[in-house]
Amino acid sequence: MMRIIEKVTEMQKLMDSLKCQGKTIGLVPTMGALHEGHLYLIKYAVRESDVVVVSIFVNPLQFGQGEDYKKYPRTLNNDSSLCEKVKVDVLFCPSVEEMYPIKPLTYIDMLELTDKLCGKSRAGHFRGVCTVVGKLFNIIKPHNAYFGQKDYQQFMVIKQMVDELNFSVKLKMCPIVREKDGLALSSRNRYLSPAERKQALCLKEALDKAKYLIRNQKEEKASNVINEMKKIIKRQPFSRIDYVEVCDSETLEKITSIKGKALVALAVFIGKTRLIDNDVIS
Ligand code: AMP
Repeated sequence: MMRIIEKVTEMQKLMDSLKCQGKTIGLVPTMGALHEGHLYLIKYAVRESDVVVVSIFVNPLQFGQGEDYKKYPRTLNNDSSLCEKVKVDVLFCPSVEEMYPIKPLTYIDMLELTDKLCGKSRAGHFRGVCTVVGKLFNIIKPHNAYFGQKDYQQFMVIKQMVDELNFSVKLKMCPIVREKDGLALSSRNRYLSPAERKQALCLKEALDKAKYLIRNQKEEKASNVINEMKKIIKRQPFSRIDYVEVCDSETLEKITSIKGKALVALAVFIGKTRLIDNDVIS
């Protein structure tokens, strides 16, 4: 039977006792509205850990003003039965008051890595992410934690935080899970109208074009790759580009000349919905 826990102290007690029994603990942090992308992470965790914890928490700290915090999909009943089906042991779903009983005075704030890509247009987003993930690591103290490549920058930021703040957790990055037609799964895809859903394919099409140019055409100029990608996206009337970038896959610095491995990442509004996608091309 899966346990559902809402209280921080109860979670800490349970985790401490499981750790004393020598169990390995795997954590999959999520904001819920679970889909196959999340389930992939969970299945990976189930294979590697004795006890799998999924957290579901829509973290107000990581949403900016005018973003979708209020309307973010909350489907706890459905999420809970999905978790049970894939053999999650513990579902941790605290309320906002439980996670932030007072107005937070303490944040985990990272420099540089968080100013780029999504950080540029989502001020404070990664401060919210680091703070909540740091709290979850302290509450659950997992041996392993699982994140998706879909949020590539998030993974690199958390990795940096874990290294610098000496959290003793191993991080695992899982590949991007896509719909059959290529759209990366996202809880936000449900905001798309049928017409927008079709146009949303331009993100993957642009990434495929980048891969073709870099791998097959041996294109080395990042600006040429970016321009070709932008052309594909701009063909869609509901699209508005936030960024299209070619970066160093470790530092996330923009690169002008592509040699070896490169991260190609993009964020595009389709109507009002902001979608992200990326590929590491070598
Ligand atoms: P979220 O609930 O959107 O905060 O995502 C929770 C975790 O699931 C994050 O580590 C995401 O990177 C990961 N994730 C979300 N969508 C996908 C996907 N399509 N493929 C793989 N991982 C994903």
